[in-house]
Amino acid sequence: MKRRPLIAGNWKMHKTVPETLAYIEAFKPLVAGVEDRDIMLAPPFTSLDAAERALEGTNIKLGAQNCHWADEGAFTGEISPKMLADIGVTYVIIGHSERRHIFGETDEMIRKKIEAVLKYELVPIICIGETLEEREEGKTLKVLETQLKEGLQGFSSSDLKDLVVAYEPVWAIGTGKTATPEQAEEAHAFVRKILAEMFNQEFADGVRILYGGSVKPENVVGLMARPNIDGALVGGASLKPDTFAKIVCFG
Ligand code: PGA
Repeated sequence: MKRRPLIAGNWKMHKTVPETLAYIEAFKPLVAGVEDRDIMLAPPFTSLDAAERALEGTNIKLGAQNCHWADEGAFTGEISPKMLADIGVTYVIIGHSERRHIFGETDEMIRKKIEAVLKYELVPIICIGETLEEREEGKTLKVLETQLKEGLQGFSSSDLKDLVVAYEPVWAIGTGKTATPEQAEEAHAFVRKILAEMFNQEFADGVRILYGGSVKPENVVGLMARPNIDGALVGGASLKPDTFAKIVCFG
């Protein structure tokens, strides 16, 4: 099955509003002709509104890096999916390993966030991945299975029709150590198998599974050549427009 690639940039806690606008000005023309794949940029919350205006009419979609599960309420410092939908966000990254490991997000919190994001017709990108210790102990597939089963529990395949999964081995994030295409493909094929078991084969065949963890212009082609790798979630290498454009325009 042919899945449309998605190349997504996660800026994490980088860039002010003027820096965001300068990036978008430089990036837009570099990817202007790209029509056969989806492109997403996820700036920090403070830049989302300005980015949305700057991206209007382009082939680049806006993503948020996180959200809360409530519509509104006494949740100091949080941002709701309702607020994100209101300013034109398309995708929301949920359960990034930095959220899980630095901020203590659990699979149950991630499940609630997915539910909230779907309510506003935003597209969830659920991030899963094992730590180095888990990999060395041979627990990689078990960890992926648990994160998927708990994070996606209770939804139907039609609820999750646009779901994107990002496989991001924690040991490869920001370390310069990329999973080999073989390691990534093994994990992606397993994710698809679990999705088929949880839902059905047709659904699983349609889900885009992105690889994340030190993706660069030099390694994107090898990763994207694998049958179950449908795109990339790019951190560090998405911070410079020319570098990220090279990744977007792979192949
Ligand atoms: P990296 O980050 O590309 O800097 O390794 C990826 C991510 O955390 O999404």
